[in-house]
Amino acid sequence: MKNAIEIKKLNKTYAGSKKQEPKVALKDIDLAIPRGSIFGLLGPNGAGKSTLINILAGLVIKTSGDVRIWNECIDGNNRNAKSAIGIVPQEINFDPFFTPFQILEIQAGLYGVPKKERLTMELLKMVDLEDKANAHSRALSGGMKRRLMVAKALAHSPPILVLDEPTAGVDVELRQMLWQNVRRLNKEGVTVVLTTHYLEEAEELCDQIAIIDRGEIVANEDKETLLSRINNKEVRFRLDKEFDEVPKVLQKFDAEKEGKRTLLIRYSPAEQEISEIIDAIKKAKFKISDISTDESDLEDVFLQITRH
Ligand code: ADP
Ligand code: MG
Repeated sequence: MKNAIEIKKLNKTYAGSKKQEPKVALKDIDLAIPRGSIFGLLGPNGAGKSTLINILAGLVIKTSGDVRIWNECIDGNNRNAKSAIGIVPQEINFDPFFTPFQILEIQAGLYGVPKKERLTMELLKMVDLEDKANAHSRALSGGMKRRLMVAKALAHSPPILVLDEPTAGVDVELRQMLWQNVRRLNKEGVTVVLTTHYLEEAEELCDQIAIIDRGEIVANEDKETLLSRINNKEVRFRLDKEFDEVPKVLQKFDAEKEGKRTLLIRYSPAEQEISEIIDAIKKAKFKISDISTDESDLEDVFLQITRH
């Protein structure tokens, strides 16, 4: 088996009501998540990330399409598909009246893990909540609750772990800890899927990144390929005199006339020295009056990718 998760032509439309129009949240999603990868689903708020994750979790019913988890179709509440995946949802999802120890025991029990095989204390240790095993969960801090949710998702030792925006609104320390755990679990063979709207997070952790925008996958590549595509810089050169079109020596660059005296050049610092561009401008007999640069951020990435 090559892929941990396979999604074909997945559609989701939330039914409307008297007050609300029906909402198309996912459109013909095709996605294959390679076994053993750390896969990032990147997209802005409202793109459809949680809808996709919640379909995997069985919390949202798909409108149409085919979803396979660990080669098992999710239709009909398939137990094999369910037991292959552990999900950390965006919202806190445990009963605050139980202790962390009880929460993990109950979760393992739900999945039929025999008492002797339960990893409750190991998991609490992993997320650094050993000393809170018997505390009231409702008294845990926000960060501790998130860590407990990760442990809970792992209670049945699933080969796939899915985290929905694990680090949205958490502090730097917790983020580092979650990243460490993700890397270690992945080394141990767990396939990890995470959603995020932070480019930095996807860049730091993931081997493969898919970008979702308004319910559609607009890019899906291994990280290096994607970054080389988006790691673009925009430089604006204000020249000493007006020009009508991009001078010939500059046409080999991704150059554009922007205003009477301004030249916009997009380039990838990994592939191109800025000095080459400046030399070419000099060759075209211009002097540079001013330079400004723009590094691409997620916003640009979306613009750039959705423009095509
Ligand atoms: P993301 O997780 O990427 O922020 P979501 O999957 O939560 O995006 O939402 C995708 C779109 O579907 C949004 O426009 C959202 O408003 C809408 N949506 C999400 N849940 C529901 C629901 N239960 N009913 C109606 N619309 C919903
Ligand atoms: Mg979400």
